[in-house]
Amino acid sequence: MASNEADRTDYDAIVIGGGPSGAAYALTMAQHGRTVLVLEKDKFPRFHIGESFLPYTADMLELLGVLDRMPGNGFPIKRGLDLIVPGGNRLVDLEVTGDEGYRTWTYQVERARFDKILLDAAGEAPGVTVMQETAVKDLIYTGERITGVWFERDGHRDSATAKYVIDASGRAGVLSRALGLRKTDNQLRMAAVFKHFEGLDEQYNPTREGDTQIGVHADGWMWAIPIRDDIISVGAMAPTSVLRASSPEEVFATGLARLPRIADRLTNTTEWHGIRGERNFEYHSDTLAGPGYFIVGDSGCFTDPIFSAGVYLALSTGRRAAQETVDCLDNPAGEEQVRLRYENFFKTGYETYYRLIRAVYDTRVGTMGTYIRHLLMSDGLTEKDRVLTLNGDFWNDSNRLVERLREHPEYQLFDPFEVHVGCPVYGKDGPPLRVS
Ligand SMILES: Cc1cc2nc3c(=O)[nH]c(=O)nc-3n(C[C@H](O)[C@H](O)[C@H](O)COP(=O)(O)OP(=O)(O)OC[C@H]3O[C@@H](n4cnc5c(N)ncnc54)[C@H](O)[C@@H]3O)c2cc1C
Repeated sequence: MASNEADRTDYDAIVIGGGPSGAAYALTMAQHGRTVLVLEKDKFPRFHIGESFLPYTADMLELLGVLDRMPGNGFPIKRGLDLIVPGGNRLVDLEVTGDEGYRTWTYQVERARFDKILLDAAGEAPGVTVMQETAVKDLIYTGERITGVWFERDGHRDSATAKYVIDASGRAGVLSRALGLRKTDNQLRMAAVFKHFEGLDEQYNPTREGDTQIGVHADGWMWAIPIRDDIISVGAMAPTSVLRASSPEEVFATGLARLPRIADRLTNTTEWHGIRGERNFEYHSDTLAGPGYFIVGDSGCFTDPIFSAGVYLALSTGRRAAQETVDCLDNPAGEEQVRLRYENFFKTGYETYYRLIRAVYDTRVGTMGTYIRHLLMSDGLTEKDRVLTLNGDFWNDSNRLVERLREHPEYQLFDPFEVHVGCPVYGKDGPPLRVS
């Protein structure tokens, strides 16, 4: 599209970034008959890490109207998690929630393909305009209110204005950084190095075909996630200090040597893509909405990917921010109250997940991985509590594992806030209720 097509002032919202959070925002706005301009700096498909989904992620894709676009792309089906922690390994079997009406499976994805499916779906939705290879450079203010953006496309600078601007730019955090909102967390300080292998043969998988493996060892953890029939993503997380004193290849090899269940799965594979890495990804913002803006997904918070909730949280906050935008458009006088409500929703989801992660890193009863094992095995929990928590049950007030995680004051991430109760997929009462 020509860049001047974006130069109009009547968009309901402009979204910075076309990843999962931005696409979910746009799709939800379209479901409500609103207009959106999505500006994405890259051309899709583009590489992105973050390849294992939760069952609730698939539920959220269904609410967004895109789940039926997933078959036929070679995405493996995940039915469980092989959790390897000191003291043994444990199959987290998604099937156990089936008789209660919860989804018992989800997808593993090659993100380049998945993100394109989602952004294409947004672009086809009525009222949504997507411009790729368009990088947002600056914000436009009217008084204190953010009312638009300056962007660059084909070497030209242009602008667009709207009633709301959404920061969905992920780690770049265009708006959250410009407003100085981002706080770095010093609790975990981990870095990731990862490779992709081809020639995967699941007969060498010690657990079930398609499942994720998470292996925790003395000072880090590894993932193994099949993303196509014959391709598997394997990553090693290590403290940044360890990575600095060593090399990415060495950190990767050390992790594999400590986790033979993951190494076995790589039998007869060869490297499809060499080593890559990500670091400095532990941060959050206490302000997630303000005059004319909402911050969604990774742009507002990211901590550690061990339980694969990043895309679910990105989709959920993108969708919720769109619903809140609609509310503000219908009733501008209520904007301040809506902002607070959105922030509570965002913080409840991310902090519940963060608390689960902190329990993995907690060394109070031994090495890393021992406390989460102790928590998972503790009295009074049902298998449903355990599995649903790992599936994305972050907005619940009746899950006993979530309750116990919330009892740890040292796991607090955000400044104190009011917990939001109500799952974005299953509502307050669980199946069969689904809220849109
Ligand atoms: C090592 C690692 C492993 C992970 N594993 C998992 C996993 O197994 N499962 C899972 O669910 N999640 C995982 N995640 C997290 C997941 O990748 C993210 O949570 C998810 O991608 C967040 O989506 P988003 O839309 O908020 O951000 P992104 O997906 O990062 O999208 C942001 C978009 O904004 C665009 N952008 C940036 N700057 C600009 C600009 N100036 N102008 C226009 N566009 C811009 C970018 O190009 C990008 O497309 C992992 C993350 C890491 C680091």
